[in-house]
Amino acid sequence: MTDVCSEPGCDRPLAKNPRRKGTRCQRCAASAMSKSPEKRAKCAETMRARFEDPAYRELHRKRTAEGQRRAMAENPALVELRREQGRRVGKVWGGAGAPPGSESRQKAARKQSEFYMGWCPIEYRPEYRRLIRNVGIRAADARRMIEEQIELDLGKYARTGVLPVSGGKS
Ligand SMILES: [Zn+2]
Repeated sequence: MTDVCSEPGCDRPLAKNPRRKGTRCQRCAASAMSKSPEKRAKCAETMRARFEDPAYRELHRKRTAEGQRRAMAENPALVELRREQGRRVGKVWGGAGAPPGSESRQKAARKQSEFYMGWCPIEYRPEYRRLIRNVGIRAADARRMIEEQIELDLGKYARTGVLPVSGGKS
């Protein structure tokens, strides 16, 4: 194993990455890879397979979030840039860039909440939001949990005739 990139004209040191197979640095490897459509497809396939693993997804989520935080802590200009980009995206999307409480913002919020929450009975929505926002559970998993809870509550209701309140723990 060399510890410097083997690509001619590049002498970047090689990072210790257990998945690295060749002797090129990450940038040169990516550049060589991107020139071949077959390799690119294979690469995408590997990525997809890797992301099937919930543990890897969680690790990736943590790592990228941590990287974002670090970058923004080290570089205040980046914070401002992100804010500016956010505003621009808001304008493109329309509605979201308008002042809070405005008609278009309310309409956007209703549409979005129907899109994300349409499956969820209104009395279970606070619990669903709590799982995602406070407990940090991924939306798909939170949905499964709520759906299981609804199932349980319906079963309980069928047995006891008592309507459970708001999907909370009982
Ligand atoms: Zn290199």
